Amino acid sequence: MMQKTEKIWFNGQFVPWEEANVHVLTHTLHYGLGVFEGIRCYKCSDGASAVFRLEEHVARLFDSAQIACLDIPFTRQEIFEAILNTIRVNNLEKGYIRPMAFLGTGAMGLFPGDNPVNLIIAVWPWGAYLGDEALDKGVAVKTSSFTRHHVNCMMTKAKINGNYVNSILAKREALNDGYDEALMLDNEGYCAEATGENIFCIKNSVLKTPPLDSVLPGITRDCLMTMARDMDYQVLEQRFTRDELYVADEAFFCGTAAELTPVREVDRRTIGAGEAGPVTKLLQQEFFSVVCGDNLKYAGWLTQV
Ligand SMILES: *Cc1c(COP(=O)(O)O)cnc(C)c1O
Repeated sequence: MMQKTEKIWFNGQFVPWEEANVHVLTHTLHYGLGVFEGIRCYKCSDGASAVFRLEEHVARLFDSAQIACLDIPFTRQEIFEAILNTIRVNNLEKGYIRPMAFLGTGAMGLFPGDNPVNLIIAVWPWGAYLGDEALDKGVAVKTSSFTRHHVNCMMTKAKINGNYVNSILAKREALNDGYDEALMLDNEGYCAEATGENIFCIKNSVLKTPPLDSVLPGITRDCLMTMARDMDYQVLEQRFTRDELYVADEAFFCGTAAELTPVREVDRRTIGAGEAGPVTKLLQQEFFSVVCGDNLKYAGWLTQV
């Protein structure tokens, strides 16, 4: 069960958690056209809280809305401030932030007409998405029988609610089969990403991640590419196959929810030594020091609450 907080920001007002409800004929509930974000707030070593890459997340929310043709009735600045205020009124020290724009009631057909666009911002405490042990020891992964969206079926660069049916099918299949997470291939058979995380593999100290053609442009992916390059690693945005992944020295998933989670096994083949590899560990340590404000080089990525 998720841990509740007190208030949810709903179209500009704070409402009690229990009262943040919508009608059953809400358009997005039926057809899935809505957009959302996933953001994390960390408690820094100095005791203050800070949101990680807030500006980029707000920008991506508006990009997703633009792709989905949803006209968000607030400005970026208003959403930026509303997110900080939602954290403040709930006294959340660290946790997860979920803004979502969705179509309300009105027309019921597939053409939403002028149904209003609603916006909510919820926050709640949320620990390691794939579990604390996963962060430390890594996850076992299964190549999914479900293909990642083709770029002309769903809009893969947007966090559109309905896109995640594909992710849920893949995730459930993997978990039911005894794995921790699914690896999704693109429609040409190359590794794309996991159900809600981007993927990297490492061979001979060179990092590789699939280019942004059918994958979600992850902000964590972007951070890690920057950090790895600053640490003098070579980073390539290049397609790779599942068999290239099988023989990688190391692999990891990354995303706001999953943070940096090592991959220890793919399709029952052990990756490297079957634990978090040295480069993965180094990047993970660096990542957690950055989000907690211990690395001044990337202080600009944090917004104080
Ligand atoms: C959100 C998401 C990611 C990770 O993006 P971040 O910006 O790092 O959180 C990766 N893949 C999918 C499909 C996602 O929805």
